Amino acid sequence: MITLEGIVLKERSVGEQDKFVDVLTREKGIVEIAVKGAKRLSGRSGSSTQLFAYSRFCINLRREQFYLDSCEPIRIFYGLREELSRISLASYFADVLKYAINEDEDCGEVLRLMLNSLHFLEKGLRPEAMLKSIFELRLMSEIGFMPDIMGCQACGEPEPEELFFCLSDGGYFCTGCFGGDASDNYYKVRMPVLQAIRYIVLADWDRLFSFRVTDSVQKRLSAVSEAYLKTHLERGFKTLDFYKSVSGT
Ligand SMILES: [Zn+2]
Repeated sequence: MITLEGIVLKERSVGEQDKFVDVLTREKGIVEIAVKGAKRLSGRSGSSTQLFAYSRFCINLRREQFYLDSCEPIRIFYGLREELSRISLASYFADVLKYAINEDEDCGEVLRLMLNSLHFLEKGLRPEAMLKSIFELRLMSEIGFMPDIMGCQACGEPEPEELFFCLSDGGYFCTGCFGGDASDNYYKVRMPVLQAIRYIVLADWDRLFSFRVTDSVQKRLSAVSEAYLKTHLERGFKTLDFYKSVSGT
């Protein structure tokens, strides 16, 4: 028997009684667990295998498939279901993780990012746009696409008033050094946007969700963080399109 802690990212019914859940775990990345008799589970066991439940799973491995033996909830994010935009944004986060994370990866930091993001989202403690940017940029940094944002790639200038941020390599050029044309691969942004990117990428966990930006900076930051994720994962997400349609962004 193995015990894993993780959050349910997806559930699929199989037949009348059973289901599979995809769980992001600290120790083993994303694992698929078969839940026999899921429809009959009630109370704590039932809620701990629901979408977005963070639970402790006791599982058995048989013929290369994990089967649930028992489980108990650690945190259920009930508040996500109170607003369509919240559950939609959470679904986008789950979708991205399912695509970006492999089996058998150590995912402590990524799991922490997801749990923290859902905590603030569920309680409505931070603007959704800010949570989305934090999730997108910090996740990319955690999985190997950390932007290189300490200085202009030509002259090293750390605090240019305006700059061109490059999506594909995550670096930037100040306006004086930028020689290319502002194609889709470059976003022209001002210093406060660069500062926000730096903060998200570098901040300690206990301070990560504690910054403020103006609406106009957030708007630009949102565009950059979303495009950065899309560029590096090389795809879009239907759950993102849905979130944008319900949130009007
Ligand atoms: Zn420069």
